[in-house]
Amino acid sequence: MTDQPTELPGEDAGQAQPATIQYARPAVAAASGDGAGDLTDALIAADQWTDDMVAAAGIPVTDVPFVSVGGGIGSFVTVDYLRVAGVPPSRMAVLTNLDFPWQTYKYLTRVSQIPEPERIRSDSASRPDNIWGFPSYALAEAIGDRTFAPLWQVLVEPIFADYYTPKAGRVFAGLERELKRIGFDQMLVKGQVRMIRKRAGGGYFIILTPMVGSAATKRLAYRAEFVHVAVGYPGLKFLPELQDFRTEHKDFHHVVSAYEEHEHVYETARTKHIVVMLRGGGIVASRVLQRLMDDRAKYGLSTDIVHLFRTYIASSHGPNAWNRRKGGNGFAYQGFNYPKSVWGGQLKARMRRLEGNDRAQAYKLMGGTNTPWRRRWQAQMNEGRAAGWYRTMAGTVEQMRLEEGKIVSTVKTSAGLVDVAADFVIDCTGLEADIAEHRVLADLLEHSGVGRNPVGRLDVERTFELRGAGSGPGVMYASGATTLGGYFPGVDTFLGLQVAAQEIVDDLARRGFCRRMGSLRSIRQWIRWAQNKEP
Ligand SMILES: Cc1cc2nc3c(=O)[nH]c(=O)nc-3n(C[C@H](O)[C@H](O)[C@H](O)COP(=O)(O)OP(=O)(O)OC[C@H]3O[C@@H](n4cnc5c(N)ncnc54)[C@H](O)[C@@H]3O)c2cc1C
Repeated sequence: MTDQPTELPGEDAGQAQPATIQYARPAVAAASGDGAGDLTDALIAADQWTDDMVAAAGIPVTDVPFVSVGGGIGSFVTVDYLRVAGVPPSRMAVLTNLDFPWQTYKYLTRVSQIPEPERIRSDSASRPDNIWGFPSYALAEAIGDRTFAPLWQVLVEPIFADYYTPKAGRVFAGLERELKRIGFDQMLVKGQVRMIRKRAGGGYFIILTPMVGSAATKRLAYRAEFVHVAVGYPGLKFLPELQDFRTEHKDFHHVVSAYEEHEHVYETARTKHIVVMLRGGGIVASRVLQRLMDDRAKYGLSTDIVHLFRTYIASSHGPNAWNRRKGGNGFAYQGFNYPKSVWGGQLKARMRRLEGNDRAQAYKLMGGTNTPWRRRWQAQMNEGRAAGWYRTMAGTVEQMRLEEGKIVSTVKTSAGLVDVAADFVIDCTGLEADIAEHRVLADLLEHSGVGRNPVGRLDVERTFELRGAGSGPGVMYASGATTLGGYFPGVDTFLGLQVAAQEIVDDLARRGFCRRMGSLRSIRQWIRWAQNKEP
């Protein structure tokens, strides 16, 4: 790269010097070719691009040593680590279609019934706005609200109280403070990333379609030595019969996903008696159920709920007496989406050694849909079961049809086919689309040399480098949901994204992009964090 790494005087001397890529251009180059500033057939077809090919297409090139693609929480925690490690904003760019990193998370949690005053699923183990995790959310809440309650909860959880988890609003406020502190806006470039291709001579080109009217050309190119891909969920996935129903009847009102706006369902319940069919057994199903039950109690409603589980968990389950997960009334119960030791215990160590089918099997064993056991939810469901307005069933839907204004689902159960008529169907099953449905990832699979891991997502090394996608001294990394199935299981969580960021930053330090953070710097940086001063 044309830039040199930041000097951090007095720390961790004697590290490897950066393997820099030499470019003939200045940091920001104007378009120089006769091309129209758009992708050409030659560019689209080639796995590797030369500087001349991009210049001939007339696409302006900007040199930035490190580019993060996505701009969500995964990008944020990665550049946060790098900023704390001493990398200035001028050496990094975040290419994104988001205005702020928690935008997608905020949207998804809101529509799936975790508004700002509600508590999220994960606990104090990770703070995406604080790489040290101290003070924890529980301590911060205790100090901020002048109460011992969160500290007491942490002390007695999970036996005498549910796990402590922070309110969504507190998480967002912390992220906003850190965003300002690290100068995130100086790195933010808005647009839609179209593709990432290897550069002849090392590094990568990232093609961005800028916001309409914000640039003179249709595309902009970023030339980087290091690329980080954190594009989140490839997309919503509807079960086939739900998709068929929605397409055939053009009905996006009565059959909805919990991950899209569906406030009208709760509003309708306040105007008349309705039957809601709920599908899925994860935390989102629990949240939607809670909202229906809360509203029922709060407004004196008569809503009936039919809850369909594809896999009905009747009791504790697992391969042996030591390896069991609690369950009952359809749900598999677990505080967090994986056993806690995947983030830093024996499961983390074990998974790092597993390859191929062994790893896929381990994922199968510890994975599966689950939800926390919470006292409030249990009490509400017990009440609903006793009064008959909350019913559960196990089976799969064979067919859905419209009959006299109701959505009738034919459910295949162990006792045969059963018809269930409902006014609304809320699907809480999935954000699990295949990675190839994301345009950038499909392009990477075709052109970068990266393959799929044992569960079908992007194949990453233990350092989160995309295996096979190296380009000279250049390296491409990925973190988040697209890498599930790798050596580290909890990737799609705040803590998982932070663990990945730590691995990536350590690897970048080995390659000379930044200095490895020693204890002294870490302590000094924590003090700066506490004082809300820029790194
Ligand atoms: C309902 C719900 C509740 C959750 N609760 C918790 C919790 O309590 N604790 C926890 O630890 N985790 C939780 N998670 C998981 C958490 O949301 C994720 O770990 C985290 O948000 C993922 O961050 P990310 O950066 O990978 O993806 P995102 O935050 O989604 O960011 C990636 C973004 O990249 C952008 N993008 C994609 N493609 C392109 C492109 N081509 N060009 C430009 N931009 C692009 C998109 O806007 C996308 O949103 C929850 C998830 C959901 C859905």
